[in-house]
Amino acid sequence: MTEVASAGVAKMHVNGEWVGAISGDTQEIINPSDGSVVDTVPRGNREDARAAIQAAENAFPAWADTAPDERAAWMMAGIERVKEHSKELAALLSKEQGKPVFEAAGEIHHFLHGMAFYAGLASKVRGAQVPLPADMGKHSYGLVMKRPVGVCGAIVPWNFPITLMGTKLGPALAAGNTIVVKPAGTTPLTTLKIIGLFNETPLPKDVPPGVLNCVTGPGREVGEELLQNPVVRRIAFTGESGTGRRVMEVAGPQFKRITLELGGSDPMIVMPDADLRKAVSGAMIGRFWNCGQACLAVKRLYLHADIYDEFLDGLLKKVAAYEPGDPATRPEKPKLRMGPLHTAAQREEIEEQLADAVSQGAEVLIGGTRPDDPALAKGHFFLPAVVANVPHKARLVQDEVFGPVLPVFKISDLDEAIALANDNQYGLGSSIWTNNMKWANQAIREVQAGVTWVNQIHYGYDELPFGGVKASGLGHEHGPEAMEYYQEKKGAVIGGLA
Ligand code: NAD
Repeated sequence: MTEVASAGVAKMHVNGEWVGAISGDTQEIINPSDGSVVDTVPRGNREDARAAIQAAENAFPAWADTAPDERAAWMMAGIERVKEHSKELAALLSKEQGKPVFEAAGEIHHFLHGMAFYAGLASKVRGAQVPLPADMGKHSYGLVMKRPVGVCGAIVPWNFPITLMGTKLGPALAAGNTIVVKPAGTTPLTTLKIIGLFNETPLPKDVPPGVLNCVTGPGREVGEELLQNPVVRRIAFTGESGTGRRVMEVAGPQFKRITLELGGSDPMIVMPDADLRKAVSGAMIGRFWNCGQACLAVKRLYLHADIYDEFLDGLLKKVAAYEPGDPATRPEKPKLRMGPLHTAAQREEIEEQLADAVSQGAEVLIGGTRPDDPALAKGHFFLPAVVANVPHKARLVQDEVFGPVLPVFKISDLDEAIALANDNQYGLGSSIWTNNMKWANQAIREVQAGVTWVNQIHYGYDELPFGGVKASGLGHEHGPEAMEYYQEKKGAVIGGLA
């Protein structure tokens, strides 16, 4: 049984124990809404990562040898513990990340749903039995078996630190792998608590600790060790496309299994027959949830000319309802809470992208500045913006805009919308809002994206594979398909028995 980390100074989790960094270094975690210190975590380095990899390597043979339903039972027991603490976890996630508490609660719920989905899949893995030609010997046959790959490295970003950890932990553990999680430098606290809760659950008999480890520290040290260390056979990475390129450069030549869930610039297309009330809500949630810091956020809005004015009118009213403020509180209805951007640099980047568009003739229809309430001056708050007349070559359209700014475009038909939707380096999500199956099918076929939602908000369902094309990544998370990346297929030929 593990000790609970002492309050006020978080510890990381290596080999079933709460530990500090071997160097003794620590790092403060700052609340993005007011600049206060939430807690202090160990600042791990390569040595700490190596200790965790070693622990995961030691635990692998016994964990891989457990029955799938034993693994599922362990995962479910951890899920129950996390459920019991979900309120306090949501509050902590809100403090370290900046998202409103109700959004943080949604994230914990999504994590639990995803983990339960994979616990359920543990016992449903299937291989194949293949009849072979008679000249191999009568009744000989081939087998295709699936086996865990070994030690996995999970590298997670700060925007959805818990769900994006779950998309890696769930399939890895269910398939019989051990894992080292590296959270983003600014959002390790809720992750550590959750990993602690799982590790407080006794492992199946004879499985050593080290199944599930977490090392906090900088990407260029802890993350790089996961990429470089030959013991790690699988890297599941979510983050920026530039960092994804680095993952390929380092882990690729070692033939590690890699999935990359990278940046996005999702287009949303609204046709004249769409249910505008639903579409306006879809655009609002799609763009402004998590203060716009989502990979599959609606980042470009293409409105048919026939509904352009009516749609914008509805959207601007909704956007005006946002009230940036303390993520721990709810505003008076009908106001909606929006938290701060996660870091000062994040806000500066949004401001630069917006200024660049304005310098090229873009018109800001609402928001786009820091709120003038002095009570918010210590946080990275920003008034959500909708922007028209943006040149399609502007950074606000071509780069990933990771904050609450939405450029809108008037289109005359679907062909034009699809051409503009595809005029971008990214290809993560996309949506079309219409009841016309012909239009829906054309968008599904022609928009270059990993997913096209029809009349649905942009959201990663645990049940469906999710992954980008173009600069948005490689491979899939979610769905039974994600298990494939955590399993090797081994063939066997059986003959001479008849
Ligand atoms: P980031 O690339 O800066 O960091 C992601 C993680 O990689 C962090 O844990 C970081 O410490 C680590 N890292 C940094 N350098 C590393 C290195 N050299 N080696 C190994 N690890 C390293 O990304 P971010 O700013 O934390 O996250 C935001 C980005 O993530 C956005 O681009 C967003 O679109 C993307 N994202 C994609 C998805 C998806 O599913 N496609 C989901 C969420 C976020």
